[in-house]
Amino acid sequence: MSDERGTVKVINGKYKPSGKFHFINPSTPIRDEHGTFLGVTNPRDIVHIHSYGSEAPFFEGLGQGKLLGTRCDNSDCPAQGSVFVPFRIHCPDCLKKNTIVDITEIAKTTAHVHTFMITERTGAFNTLPKPIRFVNVEFEGVCTILMGNLAVGKPNMGMKVVPIFQTANPSYTILDLAWVPVGTDEAELPEGFTFG
Ligand SMILES: [Zn+2]
Repeated sequence: MSDERGTVKVINGKYKPSGKFHFINPSTPIRDEHGTFLGVTNPRDIVHIHSYGSEAPFFEGLGQGKLLGTRCDNSDCPAQGSVFVPFRIHCPDCLKKNTIVDITEIAKTTAHVHTFMITERTGAFNTLPKPIRFVNVEFEGVCTILMGNLAVGKPNMGMKVVPIFQTANPSYTILDLAWVPVGTDEAELPEGFTFG
């Protein structure tokens, strides 16, 4: 086994990890203000294997400048034709598997801010610039609202926005998607982001 940080391939439907997935770092002593030894820190570093399952096309699409949603195409379902973004694998009304639909153009032409929240307090490993401008984005013909991050400007109720994508060096996470006000210049976008 090498010292390389772990990577995974899937061959014949089986996960094949290679490299190291657990790293131990040196402990440091914990002492009180008088110098009395009380314990140690135990630094540990692990690599999680996170399968996206049927949501994988959504995350791959972001790096390709595409926003994918899903639609119920079951003619026996009272909610047939409902489009879901965020990506729902199964229809919540009939529980049948949805069809993947590309809503990039709908997003570019109809997305607007339903409501928003600005926060200075973040969770662990936050990588977004503070204050974070969370926007709840609404689309025409879509029955759900998508939480996102406004990368440029200040949010307003009803503000028209367009998606931007981290196409240069995708992370394959939701961080590859952000929003900017309609009319934003490409030069203002965060590094690595394009209009797709
Ligand atoms: Zn349905």
